[in-house]
Amino acid sequence: MLKPVFWNNTKRYYDLKSFWYNRFGCKVYKLQIDAGFTCPNRDGTVSSGGCIYCDGRGSRLRQAGPLPSVSEQIRRGKEYYKTHRNAGKFIAYFQTFTNTYGPTEKLRALYDEALGEDDVIGLSVGTRPDCVPDDIIDLFQEYAKHSHAWLELGLQTIHNRTLRYINRGYSVETYFDAVRRASGKNIHICTHIIVGLPGETREDMLETARVIATLPIHGIKIHLLLALRGTKMGDLYEQGEILLLEKDDYIRVVCDILEILPPEMVIQRLTADGYRDIFLAPRWAINKMEVLNGIDRELEKRNTFQGIRFEKV
Ligand code: SF4
Repeated sequence: MLKPVFWNNTKRYYDLKSFWYNRFGCKVYKLQIDAGFTCPNRDGTVSSGGCIYCDGRGSRLRQAGPLPSVSEQIRRGKEYYKTHRNAGKFIAYFQTFTNTYGPTEKLRALYDEALGEDDVIGLSVGTRPDCVPDDIIDLFQEYAKHSHAWLELGLQTIHNRTLRYINRGYSVETYFDAVRRASGKNIHICTHIIVGLPGETREDMLETARVIATLPIHGIKIHLLLALRGTKMGDLYEQGEILLLEKDDYIRVVCDILEILPPEMVIQRLTADGYRDIFLAPRWAINKMEVLNGIDRELEKRNTFQGIRFEKV
């Protein structure tokens, strides 16, 4: 197998920047939006503890005081990216907490507000697989008819024992059901996974990638498990109850995962960001560029790329 020509990039994987440039012919950026949502895994509906790594603070914007409107957040973001990055078009990224957790009409109003802004060509909405009932899938299908619509589903792992341990509040079957109902409707589905979850072996992590590779998924975000102060995970780390991955191990597993994923799957993220003020470990993760460069170097050393071990079923 040769590196796919359609990537049209110098990377050894199909990054989001290249995907959007190929599709829209200009630089496209995601504008992060905090629309004031909460999460059923924090407000007592599913649980009140949240996932054990969740800091529960929402965006920096939320911490700073009353939230500006969606349009105002978009205008500010556009100004920055147009001035500093020569951006052409934008995707409104509803990022904070669970962005489909609310009545459909409220969601429609917020998404419409975002799409009503100049140069916003689509939506990317982060949520949980247990928060996408059929009426919300129908709503996304409507958007997908005239704009670029991504549904970002936080899965984290396909292993139910780990999902229970991290208190995600749903099983992998809920995720499979959400993917089944959203697929074939022109909606782009992105799945989030976390590498280095407690109790998972390298083989467990690769198994997650192998299963995702068989599904109708268009994009993936690969996160590194972080220990943040004030979270249960942070406490466990400080008590010596959990081990976090070393940098080289993380890089190797990520490269193994990239080799397994289909070449068409868009790689939206390859590491994690955490708040510096509550960041505990692993310290090496603070230098994001070094991690990304390490992944590039490892793929080059192996002389492999995304999809080289992808097995079509
Ligand atoms: S689903 Fe997201 S927002 Fe909700 S508790 Fe888990 S990490 Fe936090």
